[in-house]
Amino acid sequence: MRNDYDVVIVGSGAGGSMAAHRLVTKHRARVLILEAGPAWYASEDAAMLTWNYQSPRRGAATPTKPFGEFDGCIGGWEIEGEPYTRAEGTRFSWWRARMLGGRTSHWGRISLRFGPDDFRRKTLDGLGDDWPIAYDDVAPYYDEVDRLIGIFGSREGLPNEPDGQFLPPPEPRCYEHAIKDACDRLDITCIPSRLSILTRHHNGRGACHYCGQCGRGCTTMSNFSAPDVLIRPALRTGRLTVRQEAMAREVTVDDAGRANGVVFIDKTTGREERVEAPIVILAASAFESVRILLNSKSARYPDGLANGSGVLGRYITDTTGAGVSGFVPKMADMPRHNCDGVGGGHIYMPWWLDNASLDFPRGYHIEVGGGFHMPGYGFMGGIQRYPDAGGWGASLKQDYRKYFGSYVYLSGRGEMVPNDDTFCELDPEVVDRWGIPVMKFHWKWSDHERNQARHMQQTFRAIVDEMGGEVWADMPSYEDDYGLADGGVIIHELGGARMGTDPDSSAVNGWCQSHEAPNLFIADGAPFVSQADKNPTWTIMALAMRTADAVARYRQNGSL
Ligand SMILES: Cc1cc2nc3c(=O)[nH]c(=O)nc-3n(C[C@H](O)[C@H](O)[C@H](O)COP(=O)(O)OP(=O)(O)OC[C@H]3O[C@@H](n4cnc5c(N)ncnc54)[C@H](O)[C@@H]3O)c2cc1C
Ligand code: SF4
Repeated sequence: MRNDYDVVIVGSGAGGSMAAHRLVTKHRARVLILEAGPAWYASEDAAMLTWNYQSPRRGAATPTKPFGEFDGCIGGWEIEGEPYTRAEGTRFSWWRARMLGGRTSHWGRISLRFGPDDFRRKTLDGLGDDWPIAYDDVAPYYDEVDRLIGIFGSREGLPNEPDGQFLPPPEPRCYEHAIKDACDRLDITCIPSRLSILTRHHNGRGACHYCGQCGRGCTTMSNFSAPDVLIRPALRTGRLTVRQEAMAREVTVDDAGRANGVVFIDKTTGREERVEAPIVILAASAFESVRILLNSKSARYPDGLANGSGVLGRYITDTTGAGVSGFVPKMADMPRHNCDGVGGGHIYMPWWLDNASLDFPRGYHIEVGGGFHMPGYGFMGGIQRYPDAGGWGASLKQDYRKYFGSYVYLSGRGEMVPNDDTFCELDPEVVDRWGIPVMKFHWKWSDHERNQARHMQQTFRAIVDEMGGEVWADMPSYEDDYGLADGGVIIHELGGARMGTDPDSSAVNGWCQSHEAPNLFIADGAPFVSQADKNPTWTIMALAMRTADAVARYRQNGSL
């Protein structure tokens, strides 16, 4: 294929699309994206306004659509012909998108900045490691991402929850007011959520019309999905080329040990091809980029590229997650009212306590659910558990009407501390359908996470109680990890090629540039040093933009 690109990027998700957009629009570079999946634009392909009853499945999940048949993601926990393995005793699941834009067409759009403390946790509590960069290094990029994409929120001035360049947030819904009232009484900080959804027209895209179907992809482009918001504008410059269905296998190196191209499989023909480029950026998602690097073995780098320190696959994390739902009797028989809004909560609770006085070192935030929404397959399963409900016929329908909207859901999303027993590596025995060695995962929670999950359970139960509600599920035990979701299940996987100043303990430097091959960069979650109690994607994109600027600077001054 053509070999006159300045940069080749592997993957077009949150990180890859942002790096490509920046490189072609601001720095006028000629960029090729190798993307393992097909093209998919929410503006054309999403099922945003499809009624569940239009399908015989009523929108139920399928093996290839685990989040429902209208979900805007091609991929899932298991992909045919692309296995991964788990060490004995490991409970871990890996969500992988295989489509233009990666997971950005169905993600939750919760777009939080990391705070100043999140870059220096080791200094603060002695655990994990500090980042080689600080909040102030990333802040201007967060600002630019905010302005480019659009995000709503409120300026609160909280110490470790930096404010952004916000559009106005939507009003809380009725049940959200009830949750907030309870939180106020319990001294739990509860503020408007921060989502990359437009509440005003912005940069040529229309404001949200509050249909609540963000997970299906938005045909009016009112939320952030990479194909419509970043890739299409970048393609219009004529300097971006996207090669779809191109599954990257390895980065090749020259005699000096510098990256000089990428080998990939054309999935439509099964043929192996190679593209050359003076600069390579990996953005295939954190663990997939690690896989590509581990598979990039050469005489010079027998253990994989960027792995001289042996750090590849180490210090991996996922967000911790535990949840509680509660029935609130005073919200039963609620008069029908407008519960419309964005496809996500209008409020959230950032971490509000000081870990120094708790028996776990890192915090969590709380996301909420409830209210009226479009009923689909499995709607109000377990109706027989509500007071005097169940049975059949007209009275059953009446029960659904009575109890719809009378339950709330609280989900904790917290920070995991990296540990030595949690890592990934190449499985020496298993390959995928193209003969590429696959990843094997080892995962263990420590008491840091278990104690945090216990605190989530206790807090959520206290909130439901304060609302006058009841929780039907028993409090999970220590043996059940207090209800912690398995590793990977919250789909915020990070690390595996962490950044640092010391090449003996990190894969890349503070610009996400490989210590070993200076023309190799990573623009996804792999360079993260720690997880933070925030969802990671806004930081992935801010760092990808910053990395693109570094690439341009180095090209300009000839240091690459
Ligand atoms: C349902 C859901 C809800 C989420 N909600 C939130 C949220 O509210 N807030 C938040 O911050 N995060 C959220 N996330 C996480 C978020 O989606 C990820 O953090 C983000 O997409 C990661 O960006 P990425 O570029 O690293 O990977 P991805 O977006 O997954 O993109 C990777 C891309 O690389 C391609 N690729 C993979 N392997 C190869 C290969 N070998 N060769 C070529 N191409 C390849 C893939 O096809 C894909 O296009 C959510 C995720 C899911 C699934
Ligand atoms: S809720 Fe708003 S952003 Fe989400 S799909 Fe509907 S219109 Fe689009």
